[in-house]
Amino acid sequence: MTESANGAGGDAPGDDDPDATTIIDGESVAADVRADVAAHVETLADAGVTPGLATVLMSDDPASETYVSMKQRDCEEVGIESVHVEIDADAPADELYETIDDLNDRDDVHGILVQLPVPDHVDKRSVLRRIAPEKDVDGFHPENVGRLVAGDARFKPCTPHGVQKLLAAYDVETEGADAVVVGRSDIVGKPMANLLIQKSPVGNATTTVCHSRTEDLEGKLAAADIVIAAAGMSEFVDGSMLKPGATVIDVGINRVEAETEKGYELVGDVDYESATEVAGAITPVPGGVGPMTRAMLLHNTVKAAGIQSDVAIDLD
Ligand code: NDP
Repeated sequence: MTESANGAGGDAPGDDDPDATTIIDGESVAADVRADVAAHVETLADAGVTPGLATVLMSDDPASETYVSMKQRDCEEVGIESVHVEIDADAPADELYETIDDLNDRDDVHGILVQLPVPDHVDKRSVLRRIAPEKDVDGFHPENVGRLVAGDARFKPCTPHGVQKLLAAYDVETEGADAVVVGRSDIVGKPMANLLIQKSPVGNATTTVCHSRTEDLEGKLAAADIVIAAAGMSEFVDGSMLKPGATVIDVGINRVEAETEKGYELVGDVDYESATEVAGAITPVPGGVGPMTRAMLLHNTVKAAGIQSDVAIDLD
């Protein structure tokens, strides 16, 4: 690989060769975020407040069940109280709405997360609007989306916020950089692009958002200093498409069949092997963005507890 185009090369802990590709270690940065969260939990405890996160699961999907139990475990580790509500996947939508109303009213619950996707008979938009904006730790309520776009974010959505933290931790220069975000979903692509264009630290990038109707994706990727891949297509970005020295953040988590105990393995949207040959810095899958998404949920929950209990908590 050649020298980093945007200042990311060679600054990872233990990286002695300045020309080596930096492997962005999401586990390590996430551990720092969790330590920071744990310190804020103590500040809240001194003020008599225990932060609480409610998770709501209305699904039989084993993957959703796993995600929710991981979130509960994460909470426990840093001293956040977790409340869990399970609703039968066939239950009427009203049952979910009433659950959200109850959680909105509870003083011991500072953050509410409804695990997506919800069943087809439940309107996702209505669910997201029902959660009190000050408890919306996913950052999906229209009020919080609007605040983010306006440059006055309350809760930044966990995945793009986690990506921002990774870029900051590895001193990736975003100001003036050409960034390409592949994907325009409400939970990753759009908020990611919005964060990158803000006039703020880890912003000020010239940002192109690509999607399934984009023409000449290859040309756009070839010119990008920073690539954020979030299309949900296994290994579709390879090294030959990248600008030498680019920073590559692989958000994708895709299951592909493999001869493992589980019968599958997880791969990203980026072909890691070929991309590592060209990139200045790259996130692995797993171990890159995934741990950051989980850590930022804790960050947002503690921030929410601070806001609701009037305790000064200095978190972005
Ligand atoms: P969505 O399916 O909601 O969005 C995918 C996006 O990719 C869409 O905007 C789609 O375009 C675009 N896309 C599809 N095909 C192409 C193509 N050929 N060229 C360019 N763009 C394309 O996915 P999510 O945003 O929810 O998730 C993306 C990936 O990130 C998934 O693998 C998911 O599992 C993973 N993920 C990982 C997280 C983590 O913590 N690491 C957290 C959240 C998600 P269009 O809008 O036109 O359909």
